[in-house]
Amino acid sequence: MIEEHSEGIYRVRRITGSTSTKPYRCPGCDQLIPTATPHTVAWLEEDVESRRHWHTICWTKRNDRKPRTLRSKGAPRY
Ligand SMILES: [Zn+2]
Repeated sequence: MIEEHSEGIYRVRRITGSTSTKPYRCPGCDQLIPTATPHTVAWLEEDVESRRHWHTICWTKRNDRKPRTLRSKGAPRY
């Protein structure tokens, strides 16, 4: 999924609990995301180092300012 934010284009991935094997600290609320908890990973498209794990609710709240999901147009180009 691709979302447009004021900082740029974000790639966003929903993680199902079964694939999370260690706790991550959510930058939205500064709390740990326990293992086996469904959550959201997001990073700037041009900066993989910006990749962070978020509680899905924290990511959603962060987006409340101006959410806009880019629609993919038809089939992928490759
Ligand atoms: Zn959080």
